Amino acid sequence: MDRQAKAVVCREWGQPVQVETITVEGPKRGEITIKIAACGVCHSDLSATTGKIQYPPPLVLGHEAAGVVVEVGEGVTDFQEGDHVVSSFISMCGKCRQCVRGRPVLCEHARKAMFTLPDGTVRTKDSQGEPLNVFGACGVMAEYATMHVDNCVKVDDKVPMQNAALVGCAVMTGVGAVFNTAKLEPGSRAAVFGIGGVGLNAIQGCATAGAEMIVAVDNNDRKLAMAREFGATHTVNINEVDDPARAVKKLTGGVDYAFECVGAGPVVEQAYKSLGRGGTAVVVGVADPKDKTSVTTLTLPADERTLKGSWLGSARPQHDFPRILGLYQAGKLKLDELITRTYPIEDAAQAFDDMVAGKNARGVIVFD
Ligand SMILES: [Zn+2]
Ligand SMILES: [Zn+2]
Repeated sequence: MDRQAKAVVCREWGQPVQVETITVEGPKRGEITIKIAACGVCHSDLSATTGKIQYPPPLVLGHEAAGVVVEVGEGVTDFQEGDHVVSSFISMCGKCRQCVRGRPVLCEHARKAMFTLPDGTVRTKDSQGEPLNVFGACGVMAEYATMHVDNCVKVDDKVPMQNAALVGCAVMTGVGAVFNTAKLEPGSRAAVFGIGGVGLNAIQGCATAGAEMIVAVDNNDRKLAMAREFGATHTVNINEVDDPARAVKKLTGGVDYAFECVGAGPVVEQAYKSLGRGGTAVVVGVADPKDKTSVTTLTLPADERTLKGSWLGSARPQHDFPRILGLYQAGKLKLDELITRTYPIEDAAQAFDDMVAGKNARGVIVFD
């Protein structure tokens, strides 16, 4: 059935987001409709409003949400009404070569589901009846969303929705970069460049995995203070040093793992330069498509360094989302503390402004 829903929409790159009442159609074959309970506000949503992420507007934002299944399409057997689910902006077909080798974030069909559902169409229309694209095949910054089951992960209904939502992007991206991409060994020395929602999660991932030293690097003292609460042992404010990489090296002797959580060539260079011999730099931040970086080539063989990327924390969402929420339930990951502030959907523009101002570890839109 069609449902009316308030939704946060980008109408035009460079303009503030707006809240509209849209129509969300019921599920087609292989799809489910979810009543969204909570949706995190992510820098990638902002990037979609500026054109840094080039999903064509008009676009329903949101890719980090949790909610309850309210309608199930034909042929769906793994979900039923009442199930709690978290959105995954990576569409995982489960059958292609990458999926079956355990790398679903690299699913060969994922590119079919960037700003539409995997079949290339959408279930969202504005008040004029015009189609609205959906961020990452999700578009979950809305009261309802119809998604393909390949973009949904069932989770324990005992986890509060606003905490569960965050595993869909920030937590999975940061913690997964440490657990899955880097496979950080206990006793390692690590540095995290850029302390947003993802960076904080990289820090707590390092702490949970048993890192000996964790250096947080940012330009904002408030964020560096948050980083300490999430397990950073040292901090570097880049405004107070000439060369952040050298400052990290002075503290640690060169790190075994550096996590770049900004998405900018010069920061990737800093992360790489902060490595000790045998170190690995993991690029987590999503850069502009034209952005470039450079490394001193000789250091790759001579120091056996590694420069690699991490997409959604190299997640196997069906396995990792429940696993991470289990670590939260066991008291080993902080998710409550990540949520600095919640907003009603009417205040979405404020939530974006607060993110730009660096006020929140995470701001979350909560729905009635
Ligand atoms: Zn995100
Ligand atoms: Zn696949």
